[in-house]
Amino acid sequence: MASAELTTILNQVLEGLTADTIDESLEKLRFFFPETLLLGALDLIDRDSGKPSTIRIPYIILYKTPWGRPQYEVLGSTATYIVFPGLPSVATATAYCTCPAYAYSVLLSETQIMCKHILATLLALRLSRCVERPVTADELASMIARQCKV
Ligand SMILES: [Zn+2]
Repeated sequence: MASAELTTILNQVLEGLTADTIDESLEKLRFFFPETLLLGALDLIDRDSGKPSTIRIPYIILYKTPWGRPQYEVLGSTATYIVFPGLPSVATATAYCTCPAYAYSVLLSETQIMCKHILATLLALRLSRCVERPVTADELASMIARQCKV
């Protein structure tokens, strides 16, 4: 199946995902992603579950840029990655992540349609698990510069 068609179906599954339908939606997502990737993404949005007394630490931060296009920062277990959402108006412009798994599995070997950070961001958006922060152009530039030093 062409990846554009796959992305369209995946978007439909994600659009139907809410806190009430999450079990059913996760079953459908198993068709698109290996178990490890799905669990990895769920871990990113639900890492503090079971610890109600602790202060909730955001793992997925939505930065509101001055030019209106959102950008996400995902705090992984070993590093922080920046997720750029796809452009809805351009079918071929899919989301992009700065992690090595994205470069390898999605861009080079084309074995995955996205990495766990992008999936976690999409799930977090549906489940309202993102923490919103305003960001200036300068702050964003230094954030991206930090990423490029790795
Ligand atoms: Zn990633």
